[in-house]
Amino acid sequence: MERVIFHCDLNSFYASVELLSHPELRHLPVAVCGDPESRHGIILAKNEPAKAFGVKTAETIWQARKKCPDLVLLPAHHKTYREYSRKVNEIYREYTDLVEAFGIDESWLDVTGTLHLFGGDPKALADRLRDRLRDELGLTISVGVSFNKVFAKLGSDYKKPDATTVITRENFRQLVWPLPVTDLLYVGRAAAQTFEKFGIRTIGDLAAFDREQLFRLLGKNGAQLHDFASGLDTSPVAPAAQYTPPKSVGNGLTFSHNLKGREEIRAGIIQLADQVAARLRRHSMKCQGVSLAIRDPAFRDLSRQKRLDTPSCLAREIAGAAMELAESCWNMDHPVRALTVTAIYLLPAEEAVSQLELWDGGQEQRRERLEKLEGTMDAIRAKYGAGSIQPASAPRERRPRHAPPPGGAYPED
Ligand SMILES: [Mg+2]
Repeated sequence: MERVIFHCDLNSFYASVELLSHPELRHLPVAVCGDPESRHGIILAKNEPAKAFGVKTAETIWQARKKCPDLVLLPAHHKTYREYSRKVNEIYREYTDLVEAFGIDESWLDVTGTLHLFGGDPKALADRLRDRLRDELGLTISVGVSFNKVFAKLGSDYKKPDATTVITRENFRQLVWPLPVTDLLYVGRAAAQTFEKFGIRTIGDLAAFDREQLFRLLGKNGAQLHDFASGLDTSPVAPAAQYTPPKSVGNGLTFSHNLKGREEIRAGIIQLADQVAARLRRHSMKCQGVSLAIRDPAFRDLSRQKRLDTPSCLAREIAGAAMELAESCWNMDHPVRALTVTAIYLLPAEEAVSQLELWDGGQEQRRERLEKLEGTMDAIRAKYGAGSIQPASAPRERRPRHAPPPGGAYPED
């Protein structure tokens, strides 16, 4: 049976939520940022009028103000965004139990089995969803409707705000294939560079390229991207990934050669901690503990954990704790096949702040600066792809997507 999948994307989510309590600003250029007082603060979201001035997510307030001197800046309220995200996904779940959140403002819905209960017309149902969210929550979404998740996501990007785009087996060559290949889900920086080298500019170019050669160039990932471009994505909408705050955030990597010695192990840990910290910040969470799992070449696993003195979402603190664990439980001369760094005992970042108030000012200010710096790196990654910045001493290792953690399954966030 042909699947019917929606991808629903809340438009300018943070800015739209903030404007609910400032309706008088709706027609002015407005941006949400981490710290409106600092000119080095980062733009997290902007409304349509700000977009028209060229204001971009991830740039500094200072850069945005150069283009739009009257830009109104509002501070972020992550707890409120989570509440709205929950409400929105509750509405989605009235139409199907197969709802998979992708970040805080996007969800896939598989309505294959329930569409007949709501009239049987996919586009009409998508339009009804848009109307409900606008009427009941004051938020708009763009919806992509298609027969697979990858094309549904392209559909929600195709036209926004507040629009429905239907991508079918009949029209996907006209709609999808002319799009830049970098629009395709999971085209990271490494793949994009390879594509450029081989003159693959559009999704259509990718579909027309030899699949075997892509496999040789980029491994499984290359073959999978070829399938995505050809409309052959069969991945299911997995309700397990509903947006609930994660209980832990782990990242594991099997290295192409065994790591040996303190410096190589440290570099591996730093790379993993950097990604763990970025994911914590994406969820506005901090961790109160870190665990480290080490696998040796004989596939023997060892894992240790420790509490942190202060909740953290900083790569260098998470890496520091993981390195302490390594020092205490591992002979640094023994080869390491795989490492997993996991942030545990998570709590929402807002709750961590009240504990921070007990701190002396100097240390707290330093921490804020560090968090801002790492937040900037997240923003740049969000904009230019995960490989665009590397922590100073990370080994040049391409990170496999959805890398299974060595030594057991950690819940994916
Ligand atoms: Mg969005």
